[in-house]
Amino acid sequence: MEPATVVKTELATQLSDRVNRIAASPTMMVVQAADQLKAKGVDVADFGAGEPDFPTPEHIKRACIKALEENRTKYTPVPGITPLRQAICDWHKRELGSSYQSNECVVTVGGKQAIFNAVCSLVNPGDEVVMAAPYWVSYPDIVKYAGGKPVVVETHADDGFIMRAAQVEKAITPRTRIVIANSPSNPTGGVIPAGELQKIFEVCQRRGVWLMSDECYSHFVYGDAKPYSIASVPESKAGLIVIGSMSKTFAMTGWRIGYALAPQLLIAAMTKLQSQSTSNPTSIAQYAAMAAMTGSMESVPVMLAEYARRRERIVAGLRAIPGVTCTAPAGAFYVFPNVSACFNSSMSSAAEVAKQLLEREHVALVPGEGFGAPGFLRLSYATSMDRIDEGLRRMARFFSQAK
Ligand code: PLP
Repeated sequence: MEPATVVKTELATQLSDRVNRIAASPTMMVVQAADQLKAKGVDVADFGAGEPDFPTPEHIKRACIKALEENRTKYTPVPGITPLRQAICDWHKRELGSSYQSNECVVTVGGKQAIFNAVCSLVNPGDEVVMAAPYWVSYPDIVKYAGGKPVVVETHADDGFIMRAAQVEKAITPRTRIVIANSPSNPTGGVIPAGELQKIFEVCQRRGVWLMSDECYSHFVYGDAKPYSIASVPESKAGLIVIGSMSKTFAMTGWRIGYALAPQLLIAAMTKLQSQSTSNPTSIAQYAAMAAMTGSMESVPVMLAEYARRRERIVAGLRAIPGVTCTAPAGAFYVFPNVSACFNSSMSSAAEVAKQLLEREHVALVPGEGFGAPGFLRLSYATSMDRIDEGLRRMARFFSQAK
């Protein structure tokens, strides 16, 4: 064995089983590969990153600067400053019709930490967590990290990638602790109709299972649809965990502020876990988030209108490529085309398509395997119309040559 291999093998055996059970995020890996090409001066058509290409609104940035000038740079309470917890509850009530109090809210380092802390607070080794595939890449890994077992319910492109209550009912066993509903969905853009989500919640209630409703894209729904939260159902609090985030709604991905709304006992457990890991989310980012929760929402429809225009263009462009089929997303800012009809002997998986697209045409996108959907690609259209057009041209050329 080469010395380097020996060191690598030894190191792997030193790492905990917990960390060896999980994989690095495939989305992050694509972002890294695209960034490396860009650093070399390559013109990349980048559909990889799942983040708004808009700047954070001015009033939010100003609130952060003010907080800095006022020296609000010290530790805060672990679950976040009370006025922010209250502002989140008020915002959620105003926008989505819930009724939480500040002690039923914990502010976290992005929605991701809220999911992580909730799963780690509820899941024992061997417990099951039900989720729809295609799923957001982090759900199965977070569950595995906690020692749990992801149980996947398949959704279908021709049904708008909607998880159905009947499927959830069948997937629940005596070991199930949580059902995750992600609507609008990353990666598919699927939106679970309010009636279906209510049925899913009823199933969870009847079977004594938590429902985790990931609403990070709540405000990006197209057409006549309005943002919806299952927390608007009267008496819905018991057994429900709402996950929210500033990242997408307010173009604040780098600020790392998210939250959970849940019964006080679970919030207390999540806060305990947070107290022994990250402590509070960054103080000045919390003041910025307060401006997001209490200030003007006018940037949101502006972003949504632009995403809607891009959605039309990218769906039409992908559908025009022979062999590619593409469901129009009902929400979020991703398209999830099926390219399996384009597979051949030299390109027989979505991972291979993504690799060759990056190498030959400098188009960055994420293959479906990481989302539990081999045969599909995920493209984020949180990028300019020019880049979308350029990327579509390159993809059309790539697939016509792949025949
Ligand atoms: N949930 C979903 C479905 C997501 O796509 C993301 C981010 O991409 C998150 C949660 C977490 O976002 P953040 O940690 O930036 O709030």
